[in-house]
Amino acid sequence: MSQYPAATLILSAAQAQQFPEDLGVEVAFAGRSNAGKSSAINAITGRKALARTSKTPGRTRLLNFFHLLPNCRIVDLPGYGYAEATPVERASWVPMIDALARRSSLRGLFVMVDARRGMLEGDWGLLDWAESARVPVHILLTKCDKLRRHELQATLATVHSELGARATVQAFSAHDGTGLEAARKQLKGWFSAAAPASEQIGGE
Ligand code: GDP
Repeated sequence: MSQYPAATLILSAAQAQQFPEDLGVEVAFAGRSNAGKSSAINAITGRKALARTSKTPGRTRLLNFFHLLPNCRIVDLPGYGYAEATPVERASWVPMIDALARRSSLRGLFVMVDARRGMLEGDWGLLDWAESARVPVHILLTKCDKLRRHELQATLATVHSELGARATVQAFSAHDGTGLEAARKQLKGWFSAAAPASEQIGGE
């Protein structure tokens, strides 16, 4: 059963002026291309095809805002690291990300990191960005079903020690459901910390 039956795309923003009103709570999802971000969004929200929208032609470089509950949104950021952005793309992308950081509704950031690769350069850049925006970060070590148990434990320990207190981290697999409940709890916690429970019930 979907956690968010009313989940729907609000809009795909090509520039900050198009962002939804800065009200309620917003949680961002980011990660390197192919890190498993779409699969994680779909699993956490219980909506199989929600993040497929972000992958449709023309939307991959945009910020895709989804309504999940009244006053509670997620924003799916473009995957990074796969191919260098062109100067034109950077020119539109950097101001958008700066504007996102200034939004008072932005209350949390999930970063999807492939458990087989660990933290890479772009991931650290994102952490710096979140820190300057004072946004808490929760890292999902994705595709953990591909690792043996001892490999996963070793990766978790490495990432833990690399991160210190900069972010929380957990193992996650969209395929076998490892860590799914913990990730859902994290999202709910961010949503509920800023919006009274009464606001989260019912429709718009
Ligand atoms: P995105 O580019 O970050 O949105 O990544 P996707 O969610 O599209 O996933 C990229 C690839 O990794 C796809 O082939 C997925 O099937 C695969 N994938 C995603 N999550 C998992 C997972 O938990 N386990 C495994 N084994 N593969 C996964």
